[in-house]
Amino acid sequence: MSGGRPREACGVVAVSGHPEAPQLVAEGLVALQHRGQESAGVAYRSRGGPIRLERGMGLVLEVFPGLVVPGEGSFAVGHVRYSTAGTSDLANAQPLLARTHLGPVALAHNGNLVESAPVAAAPPGPDASDTALVLAAVAESRAPSLEKALESVLAQARGGFAMAALGPDRLWAVRDPRGIRPLVLGRLEGGWALASETCALDAMGARTIRELEPGEFMTIEDGAAPRSRRLFPREAAAPCIFEAVYFARPDSLVAGSTVHALRRRMGGELAAEHPVDADVVLAVPDSSVSAAEGYAAALNLPLEQGLIRNRYLGRAFLEPDPLRRDARVRRKLAVIPSAVAGRRVVLVDDSIVRGTTARHLIGRMWEAGAREVHLRIAAPPYRHPCHYGVDTSRAQRLFAGERPDPSALARELLATSLGYLSLEGLVRAMGGGSHCTACFSGQYPVPVGVMAGATLA
Ligand code: AMP
Repeated sequence: MSGGRPREACGVVAVSGHPEAPQLVAEGLVALQHRGQESAGVAYRSRGGPIRLERGMGLVLEVFPGLVVPGEGSFAVGHVRYSTAGTSDLANAQPLLARTHLGPVALAHNGNLVESAPVAAAPPGPDASDTALVLAAVAESRAPSLEKALESVLAQARGGFAMAALGPDRLWAVRDPRGIRPLVLGRLEGGWALASETCALDAMGARTIRELEPGEFMTIEDGAAPRSRRLFPREAAAPCIFEAVYFARPDSLVAGSTVHALRRRMGGELAAEHPVDADVVLAVPDSSVSAAEGYAAALNLPLEQGLIRNRYLGRAFLEPDPLRRDARVRRKLAVIPSAVAGRRVVLVDDSIVRGTTARHLIGRMWEAGAREVHLRIAAPPYRHPCHYGVDTSRAQRLFAGERPDPSALARELLATSLGYLSLEGLVRAMGGGSHCTACFSGQYPVPVGVMAGATLA
């Protein structure tokens, strides 16, 4: 697979058996906006009607002003797409809709397929997304029904993926064999809901039932309870640990705990591994607030608001040009000088990817008159690109990947000290269990094939 193909780090929502399915899906998508701000879309149908697709570039509320989806239906799938440099294109906005000889099908996908049969099969174009490849393979299938076609195409897929598909009379959902990408099932009055995170189920008024099993293929027909089958041989589960570190919203549940609670524990572990005597703890908002709370509580240090995040900007950070990256951080985060002046500051963030945020903020702390600036990262060094859907696979330079020695890193960032949470500490904070830790450990649970050698653009 080439490095130029669009990645699909995103949010997925689906609803069946509810008279306001498109509307509910839009509510779910807004709750998943943190997972993608580049485009949004909803595909829906009413009983026996055609599948309609509404999608566009931008935030959910820009694509659906007033959060109104024009049209009605009892089945719907929706998608928010992550911003990635260079591939902003309406053609990549999802869901994608294909009219096949077996009937119409709309597909919403979060994740990334690594080299596998649907990827190897004649691609419809050099820029085709994984989603388009799956649909093209379904369209060429000789299976007797859409369901069988999807099953046989997806059974050959490898990588990290969670997909929801809408057909003429039912919904399908699938989670990759290792459960790398998340997908949860919820119960609605009279129907069912699926989403990348439980915060979207909550936003739709659905009760969380459970996470889909790794390798589970689920079918939901109108009015019926979901039925499932396993598409792949059983393998050890490896849910993405970075979901809990950064990607998911703090109110979402991961393996039964809120992400907030998990991050607080990460902060606690970080404090045990890298304590420091300081006057104040500051969080880099928003994703590290919970970890900073855990760090400060464990060391009995005051946590104060010292950084302001401009909420009206997206999360986009894969800006290829370093100068524009810097400008972007300056635009996104501001320092409150009085929280910093004359004090020994601990700055807690969840990750250093390219080092732009840390370098910039530490500089601003010194300018604001800090006496010491201790950087604490509530995760291990991010050294290896993700090939399963968190879009660092094209990050040209992973800061920690190039600099194995944390004290050299601290000097380069002009920090008084730097401490990363160990992988063991992170897993402890997660309550044990097996995870995909590839970005930290370099151990990829699914072989990445030719992708590993792809040019990092
Ligand atoms: P960097 O500035 O490149 O070192 O990126 C680290 C900052 O970006 C941290 O403040 C993280 O909270 C945030 N971050 C980490 N991973 C991602 C991601 N996949 N997408 C957007 N932001 C991220």
